[in-house]
Amino acid sequence: MIVLKTSRELSVMRKAGQISQKALRLAGEAVEPGVSTWEIDRIVRQYIEKEGATPSFLNYGGFPASACISVNDVVIHGIPSKGEILKKGDIVGIDVGACYKGYHGDNAWTFPCGEIGEEARALLDATEKALFLGIEQARPGNRLGDVGHAIQEYVEARSYSVVREFIGHGVGANLHEDPSVPNYGTPGRGVRLMPGMVIAIEPMVNQKGHKVRVLPDGWTVKTKDGGLSAHFEHTVAITPDGPVILTRLD
Ligand code: MG
Repeated sequence: MIVLKTSRELSVMRKAGQISQKALRLAGEAVEPGVSTWEIDRIVRQYIEKEGATPSFLNYGGFPASACISVNDVVIHGIPSKGEILKKGDIVGIDVGACYKGYHGDNAWTFPCGEIGEEARALLDATEKALFLGIEQARPGNRLGDVGHAIQEYVEARSYSVVREFIGHGVGANLHEDPSVPNYGTPGRGVRLMPGMVIAIEPMVNQKGHKVRVLPDGWTVKTKDGGLSAHFEHTVAITPDGPVILTRLD
């Protein structure tokens, strides 16, 4: 069931989104060679709690940390650890959610660690661009297929691939709620978008094939072929005036 949000709920979600975005930016600023993913997770948790919110991911389904940190060929759900030390040239996907007064914000960005290769840079740029092309389609009267198609078309034209097994989702009092928001689709198909809906749009783009595998830890998702993967996400409200990104600071 898709829950439409009132304007009062949207203003609380705006605050949850801002806390999530600020935590993500602080995490991104901490990305540099020699830093552990555990340290970045600590920064995220500290900031969210200082704002009177709670990290949405901590203990969600048993996830043991506040941020998912996914390096290089890890697509999503990487578990931060003291033993994972970032190196120059890594690409570091960080996914952060915060729950404020009962409502969630959810966002992700893939950060370069120091100088990165040209191919990695191009993958990050394309995935970021695809996210914003998807967001542009998130307006009343359009359908989810329009959002997914805009992302898929842009990504595949660059010979990258879109992950199929993991997709975006509705956001609200629950971190994950209806509808499902695939990063692929057919224009004019799928759920019709209406004012009051809030969705997380989150393209996961692989350098090579779209297939992924889950490691025995039950969380870490990697590309099957070892290619790089990038992940960008915003929480977006559908309004009569078009899409409004809730996970932004201004
Ligand atoms: Mg999400």
